[in-house]
Parts: sequence; structure tokens; C-alpha cells
Amino acid sequence: MNQSDDHGAESESDALLMRLKAVRENIARAALSCGRDPDSVTLVAASKTQDGQAIAPLIKAGQIVFGENRVQEAQSKWPALRALNPSVELRLIGPLQSNKTRDAVSLFDVIETLDRPSLARALASEIQRQGRQPRLYVEVNTGAEPQKAGVLPGEIDGFLLACRADFGLAVTGLMCVPPVGEQASPHFALLAKIASRHGLRELSMGMSTDYPLAIQLGATHVRVGTALFGSRSQR
Ligand SMILES: *Cc1c(COP(=O)(O)O)cnc(C)c1O
Repeated sequence: MNQSDDHGAESESDALLMRLKAVRENIARAALSCGRDPDSVTLVAASKTQDGQAIAPLIKAGQIVFGENRVQEAQSKWPALRALNPSVELRLIGPLQSNKTRDAVSLFDVIETLDRPSLARALASEIQRQGRQPRLYVEVNTGAEPQKAGVLPGEIDGFLLACRADFGLAVTGLMCVPPVGEQASPHFALLAKIASRHGLRELSMGMSTDYPLAIQLGATHVRVGTALFGSRSQR
């Protein structure tokens, strides 16, 4: 690496740390604006497509919760990164194929995308086999979009019951990704309502463009990528 590259890397990580500070401030402001404790909201850094060089400065700055979309990508980069800080919490926020269940259970601390009975069955048997218990959220397809993963709002009560009764799984939260180009607030409100009906405390909702709104509607976890790392297409 020559000197100018070195400077480039340095200013890139400075910019990253400034964006981290800004996101943290926005989270605190949104929480306080509705009478919530800022510490009741966890920033999940959505680090898909980001390499170790982009992620390491965030870990050093105390960001320890990360969300990844793909099991394989996470497997290739996180074992080394976790060595920087063993308390890193890794979350799966993308769809999980049943044939990746084994790897997902061994790698992730939280799986946010439980969305069908066959996956519930596969997770239950892997959790039993490995004796490792990631926390589980159910993804809800709040907009009932045909191409999107997630349990339909009309089927969520039955699915949560089945998770507990048929598969012995303890679900602790819900997650959603509202439809692109629609107002997000009705989707966030719906997710919060379902969670409260089932006594679920954790709500993963809100991304770069709408996390302050999600916090006002009850998010405990916001998944922020672009606002932290910059635009993915630029890298
Ligand atoms: C990429 C991604 C995010 C972060 O999106 P940004 O708009 O970049 O903040 C959040 N949640 C999921 C499921 C994602 O795939």
C-alpha cells in the first residue's frame, strides 16, 4: 500500500466514524422525543457486502451488534472479525434456506428471519443437536407482498403458537421490512401491535431512511446500512 492509499483508508474510516456518531445521535434524539430511554434502542449495523476493512473501525469504536444477510458471506468474514472483540453480537437479517440451518445456528446469536414451519422444524432440531440457542425473531410480511419473505399478518398468531407448541421454540421478537415506496409507519405500527398482543419485547424495524420513525413506533432494534457505510454501489 503506498502513502496516498493509506491516507485514503484513513479518511474513509474517519468518515465512517462520523456517520456512526450521527446515527447514534439521531437514535438518541428519536428516543428522547417520545420519552424513551436511548439505551432501549440497539443499533444493528447492516454490514452486507462490507469487508473487514470497513467493519473493523466500527468494532473498535464500540459498535458490537451487526446484521448480515447471507450465511455464507457471514461465515467467510466474521470468525476473524470476532477476534477483535469477542462480545460482538451477530444477527441474521436475510432469508434463511433450510439447508443452511446448521451453519446459521452455529454462527449467529440472533436469527431474525424465522418465517415458515419447515424452518421452525429445522431450527428446533439443530438447536437440540448443537446445544446452542440463538434468539429467534419471526419476520412478518406486513405488506402481504407476494415476492417477500415473512409470515402474513393473518397467519402470525397461528405461527407463533405452532413455534411454541409444535417445535418448542422460544420466539422473543418480530422483524419486518415494509414495502418499498410506501409509507412505513402503518407497517411499523402493525408490527408493534402484533408484538404487544403476544408479549414479545423485541422489535426489529427501521432502516437508513426511516429508523427515527421506527423508534417512535417502538423499535428496539434498528438495522442501518447505508447511513453508516455509505452507498453500497459506490464501494
Ligand atoms: C440491507 C438491509 C438493511 C439496511 O438497509 P439500509 O437501507 O442500507 O440501511 C436492513 N435490513 C435488511 C433486511 C437489509 O437487507
